[in-house]
Amino acid sequence: MSGFVRTNEKCPVCRQSFKEELQGRLVVLICPEHRTMPRRYYVDTSGFGLKKRKRYSGKDGVPFASREAASQFLDSMRAAKGNRATWDPKEWDEADIKEFRFAAEWAKWVESKESDWSPGYLRQVEWVRSRILAPRWESFDMRDIRNAHLIDLKTDVAKRYAPSVVKLVIGVTCSFLSGLRMRGDIKETLTRPTVKVPSRDLFILDADQQAAIIAQANERYRKILTLAARCGVRPCEVCAVRIMDVVGGYIHFQRSMDDYGNLSDTKTGTVNRKPIPADMARDIAVAMRFRRPDAPLFVNRWGKSFRPGVLSRAWKKAAIAAGLKGSTLNVGTRHSFATRTWREEEAGARKRTADAVGHAGPRTTFGNYIPREG
Ligand SMILES: [Zn+2]
Repeated sequence: MSGFVRTNEKCPVCRQSFKEELQGRLVVLICPEHRTMPRRYYVDTSGFGLKKRKRYSGKDGVPFASREAASQFLDSMRAAKGNRATWDPKEWDEADIKEFRFAAEWAKWVESKESDWSPGYLRQVEWVRSRILAPRWESFDMRDIRNAHLIDLKTDVAKRYAPSVVKLVIGVTCSFLSGLRMRGDIKETLTRPTVKVPSRDLFILDADQQAAIIAQANERYRKILTLAARCGVRPCEVCAVRIMDVVGGYIHFQRSMDDYGNLSDTKTGTVNRKPIPADMARDIAVAMRFRRPDAPLFVNRWGKSFRPGVLSRAWKKAAIAAGLKGSTLNVGTRHSFATRTWREEEAGARKRTADAVGHAGPRTTFGNYIPREG
């Protein structure tokens, strides 16, 4: 005889498959140990020549909520097939229930979540859909999703993309699937595949190394690169500084410039106020002399603002010349600034802690008094 009644679900307690058991006259699917039963069944239609192997609902479209309901449907199929003259497999194909298809489910999920997302995240989600998920799951019935699909997805994406992208794809996909699960459209408990993103090897520079790179750069870049190194602000914000941003001994970084010269707010929309670096006071004073308030503080050969991309290339080239190949502008200035700031703060905090307990120096305090972290 063709066909079986099966379920996609597993025992929610032990994660084992359900087993058939005779209860009175009925065969049920049940976990022999935990007495749990599936909530949804399907008819495996292999042998009937139907388009889809899994059929989830009866002719009325009502999902099979008991093994008995699925089994009755299977019996009626077998009976119909018994009469070769009138058997038409097309009559038994499930009406195309678009509701559970990837596209429909995705649209529902995005609609329910969109308002919580930033425009940037929305773009990432759309990228994951159009480039990764839609091509592979376009007509997929999401009720058939299994851990194996997630693992395959991860493996495939990892072949073509960096770990950070794999992490994004898995993150977005799992969030989508948990949305489906919350709505009750899928029952299976899915396990998120782990993605390890190696922490980037940051090429942190000390002050001497920064000075060595800046010395190798073309003369016209040296002042603005020095400013970037001393202040640790984003290169795009250094490029956008104007004369009028220098007030009362402080520079107010409050704009950002892209590679096409367009100005916008800083990334976080805040003003970053930094004292004029002591060793730049003279250069800045000279740059401000006889110039309009809205003029860029430091200018290129044509009297215009520097662009971040130009500075990045200048930095990389100078780094090679200085024997520090691999240093990039952002890490060489901004990350290095943050790292050194933290190390100084940490050293200061250790010294203050030692003072507080009356030690001559932090060595005793941190060697014998304070348990090591991690
Ligand atoms: Zn069980």
